[in-house]
Amino acid sequence: MKPFSQPFLRLSAAALSLVLVACGQSEDKTSGVESTSKVTVEAAAPAQIAGINGERIINADEEPGNWMAHGRDYGEQRFSPLKQVNTETVSDLGLAWSFDVEHQKGLEASPIVVDGVMYTTTSWSAVYALDAKTGKELWRYDPKVPKSYLRNLCCSPANRGVAVWKGRVYVGTINGHLIALDAKTGTVEWDVLTTPEGKPYSITGAPRIVKDKVIIGNGGAEMGVRGFITAYDVVTGEQKWRFYTVPGNPDAGFENDAMEMAAKTWTGEWWKQGGGGTAWDSMAYDPELDLLYVGVGNGSPWNRKIRSPEGGDNLFLSSIVAVRPDTGEYVWHYQTTPADTFDYTATQHMILADLEMDGIKRKVIMQAPKNGFFFVLDRTNGEFLSAKPYVNVTWATHVDQETGRPVEDKSVTEFTERTQMIYPSPYGGHNWHPMAYNPGTGLVYIPAIEIPHFFNGLKKAGKERVWNVGMKWIKPEETAANVKMNRELTSGKLMAWDPVKQKTAWEITYPTPGIGGMLTTAGNLVFHGVPQGKLMAYNASTGEQLWEAYSQTGIVAPPISYKIDGEQYIAVMAGWGGMFSMTGGTVTRKDEGPGPNRVLVYKLGGKHTLPAKAELVMTAPKPPAQTGTAEQIANGSALYDEYCQFCHGMHAVSGGVIPDLRHMTEQTHLSFMGIVYGGMLQEKGMAAFNDHLTVDEVNDLQKYLIQRATDDYGDASVF
Ligand code: CA
Repeated sequence: MKPFSQPFLRLSAAALSLVLVACGQSEDKTSGVESTSKVTVEAAAPAQIAGINGERIINADEEPGNWMAHGRDYGEQRFSPLKQVNTETVSDLGLAWSFDVEHQKGLEASPIVVDGVMYTTTSWSAVYALDAKTGKELWRYDPKVPKSYLRNLCCSPANRGVAVWKGRVYVGTINGHLIALDAKTGTVEWDVLTTPEGKPYSITGAPRIVKDKVIIGNGGAEMGVRGFITAYDVVTGEQKWRFYTVPGNPDAGFENDAMEMAAKTWTGEWWKQGGGGTAWDSMAYDPELDLLYVGVGNGSPWNRKIRSPEGGDNLFLSSIVAVRPDTGEYVWHYQTTPADTFDYTATQHMILADLEMDGIKRKVIMQAPKNGFFFVLDRTNGEFLSAKPYVNVTWATHVDQETGRPVEDKSVTEFTERTQMIYPSPYGGHNWHPMAYNPGTGLVYIPAIEIPHFFNGLKKAGKERVWNVGMKWIKPEETAANVKMNRELTSGKLMAWDPVKQKTAWEITYPTPGIGGMLTTAGNLVFHGVPQGKLMAYNASTGEQLWEAYSQTGIVAPPISYKIDGEQYIAVMAGWGGMFSMTGGTVTRKDEGPGPNRVLVYKLGGKHTLPAKAELVMTAPKPPAQTGTAEQIANGSALYDEYCQFCHGMHAVSGGVIPDLRHMTEQTHLSFMGIVYGGMLQEKGMAAFNDHLTVDEVNDLQKYLIQRATDDYGDASVF
């Protein structure tokens, strides 16, 4: 008997309150997980499309053919119980269908698949509903966010996906809106602005839905904002609660006791610079404990000596915070980086699992935040259980087992008067790219990053900046030796991490940081993409590579899996983009260029082929003659670092998504003032900077860019 096969489930979803009594082992039951002889499935889904509700997500293992929530289940394990595609069959995996999306700035979404329909997002917060078996477009919705909003973003106009609930699809937009769409038609049911009007907040994270409340955070800590998450009624869009992650001005009164407690850990007038603590990505939910876990980001500005001059841990920066989903009431917190000054967010993916540790079964929450330590906490109360470095870590020597507090190496971190190389970098030992946990192997698969960063101390905020982190962003000179060194010091790693032993079981090293998010399956496989334009499959136990497919563009999004009519699919959003593609400079190897952004879906025996990729021909005329003085070029270089490199790349070397400014045509050089000062290309995302830069400064910028082009391409008319 195969009680959970897909056709049967779809029938059962149409029937109200149908109770299934299943006997024996389903073919899709998790290997290594106890097979229950009696499983009750509350098929309470209404007879509507996209009829996802809490019961269905809680019982996600009983309908493994669907991927109903961001991390598949509320614990966000990103483990698929499907095993038709397994270590034996994966070599037969081929493309089933592909779908080209409109926007080309990189794809980061986890698609939701329910009852044969895939709901997914692209950059610029556009939503697509596709037939998950064929790729046929059912509808699309584009909120048409003005492209000039790009200037308000730390990183890119990315979006990590929708939430689906009782016939509606919810998306957070890059300009701060939360929008509910009719799942059948894609028409707007309600639209609320979740962030203060006119402030540089942004939303890239996927909403989560718990108990008929849709919960959304935001980003912007590099731009001087105060972080919070908000819950809205799924039907009406009415605000139910808001939880701030850092305290505001005490004179205005605290919103709750948690803010009063947090304010005791701050000094100076932090609220004037926002404080930061944006919760821009990760959440998880434990229905049994009724706790919602929220990952909180870095401070605003980064530099703690500016943010909180007399010291203090600055709660709830870089913390995991547990709140009640009904009210937003604070329950517990754990701070992964007290008094953070390195952009070590704790917004990274969190996974809930039950682990046996020292003979005791523990309900844990696991996170590999940017700071380089893999944390295992008791999720009932936030008790620290263990932490060990999963990448090179120099800012702290260890996490004290008694206090659960990282021990900073002050000889490294007190870098006010000098430049100091520190691991990990502000990219983190791990960034937003999701991990995955396989209950069969007991391993967590981490897309890890090895990059050092050169920090240089105190830089008082002068005039208001776009990016304002209160520090110099130091970069080694772009000499051949330094480029070589940078490449030697940096890598991307797929790490299979044993969370009980707190050590690596196996690892795969890639030459390029920025590898994609993870999927693991009961077929004993791990899937993930790489910047070089490939989707990879490994044996989850051993790390043996079993399969790869060429994707024509770098992949950063995490794959998902689903099943329709007896066939298992592996799906991934393929589109090179995101923070690292923008700022990384020469360390970013854009072997495949940005490529066409697509949904790629594979199945056993799939025979679909991609259209041939247009050859990437990069040409540029000789740069104009350099007429600037050394002083102008140096000034332009400093301005570039301040205003331009976060999108256009370190040393004006683009990661392939945003135009490479060394490649500017004669016409672009002639229009340079009009573009940078006047906003000629606002519609394409290049905002005017006349509120930040003078005409002389824009001229100096151009001299610097001419110098960069001359240095790299001065001898060639075509490169
Ligand atoms: Ca940050």
